[in-house]
Amino acid sequence: MATGRCLCGTIGFETTGTPRFVANCHCINCRRATGAAFSTWVGFTDDQINWTGTRATYASSEGVARGFCKNCGTPLSYQGAKWDGETHILIGAFDNPEAFTPKADVFIEEALPFSKPKT
Ligand SMILES: [Zn+2]
Ligand SMILES: [Zn+2]
Repeated sequence: MATGRCLCGTIGFETTGTPRFVANCHCINCRRATGAAFSTWVGFTDDQINWTGTRATYASSEGVARGFCKNCGTPLSYQGAKWDGETHILIGAFDNPEAFTPKADVFIEEALPFSKPKT
């Protein structure tokens, strides 16, 4: 089990089991939504996550809901129609982010030069 929360603690979560994937996303939308050079996502099925508090959401593309805390602004989650039944959580929101290791890089073509993965 892993736990996490937003910066102010209004939103919390618990996850169970093994994530479906852990990946660095270099896409422009994640970059803007998080303000970080790239975003490391830990992907779970919805039934592996228990949330406390209610996330606000922003539809950055059709069928996409980016979840965040409307009190402190922490970006937390991504849900997309392309990944029905899954919720992807930003690694930095976990209490134990060191438990997860990214195994893939996606949208490499949009990566910033200094963070471009070596292929
Ligand atoms: Zn918060
Ligand atoms: Zn992305």
